[in-house]
Amino acid sequence: MPIYEYVASDPEDCCPACRRGFEIRRPLSRPPLETCPVCKKPVRKLLAKGVSSPQISKPLSVSDAKKAGFTVLEKRDEGTYEKL
Ligand SMILES: [Zn+2]
Repeated sequence: MPIYEYVASDPEDCCPACRRGFEIRRPLSRPPLETCPVCKKPVRKLLAKGVSSPQISKPLSVSDAKKAGFTVLEKRDEGTYEKL
């Protein structure tokens, strides 16, 4: 279950818990928390902790791989016959 961190939208008008910010575990299926469970004042969600977004790396191109010192093995066409 992901941990969400919330903090008071208005730090002047809230309870000590959400002024500092608090963490709460919530199932993904539940809608995001909108109010502090203690003082019922509006809260906003901070970035989820401990959840690193996976880096989507684009596939290495052959020339990039060669530059990086990889040996690139490429299957050549085999068994291609030309009809004469
Ligand atoms: Zn509060």
